[in-house]
Amino acid sequence: MSARRLVIAIDGPAASGKSSTAKWVADRLGIRHVDSGALYRALTAAALRAGPAGGDWSEAEVLRHAGRVGLRPEGRGFAPLVDGAPAAEEIRAVEVTRHVSTVAAMPGVRAWVNAQVRAAADEHDVVVDGRDIGTAVFPDAALKVFLVADPWERARRRLIQRLERTPTEAEVAEETDRLVQRDARDATQTVPARDAVVVDTTYLTQEDQVERIVALARAVTHRPGDTSAG
Ligand code: C5P
Repeated sequence: MSARRLVIAIDGPAASGKSSTAKWVADRLGIRHVDSGALYRALTAAALRAGPAGGDWSEAEVLRHAGRVGLRPEGRGFAPLVDGAPAAEEIRAVEVTRHVSTVAAMPGVRAWVNAQVRAAADEHDVVVDGRDIGTAVFPDAALKVFLVADPWERARRRLIQRLERTPTEAEVAEETDRLVQRDARDATQTVPARDAVVVDTTYLTQEDQVERIVALARAVTHRPGDTSAG
């Protein structure tokens, strides 16, 4: 990455609102958004397409599919591609979510994703969201934010987004369980950088979170009101 490029890292656990917040912050700052989780998901989706023996793959077997996965610039972000076609919906499938943490635990996979993310960020100012962006991928990021929120609230928000209605208590309880299990599987790589600003969004609206991060970004970049393209 060129030293002149601006990188804002937004990390946090599952359903902490990283991707939507990162996208919105990127829009506000007039820069690009890179969703690193989409690459882990797209690689998992490619492996699942090749054979349903999910979960039982070796690192070499997973990495064999890396050439089938990519990111294509789209709008202010990047669309995940599998076999050359957009796969935004497929990568959110339950089956992908079930296996993605196992795939993401493979060191070779992490190295591959990190290289893709750095390449996407090479030419642009970016907001990158994930788990380890401020620690492993861009330890020199100008701003590192770590989003946290109560698991029940994260589950509730995720369900409202998915079901487009108010979820029942039982539904929220079940989703909370799933989230907590995924948090445990992702715990090793989901650690705030020492210099990260931790933002607890439990009682914040999404607008407030975005405002807060945009203000932090403007403070570190000394670009008050700057919305020029990166
Ligand atoms: O962000 P999202 O929930 O879509 O990420 C999917 C999965 O990808 C996570 O559960 C985690 O296993 C993995 N991931 C990761 N490091 C990142 C981003 C995502 O390990 N930087």
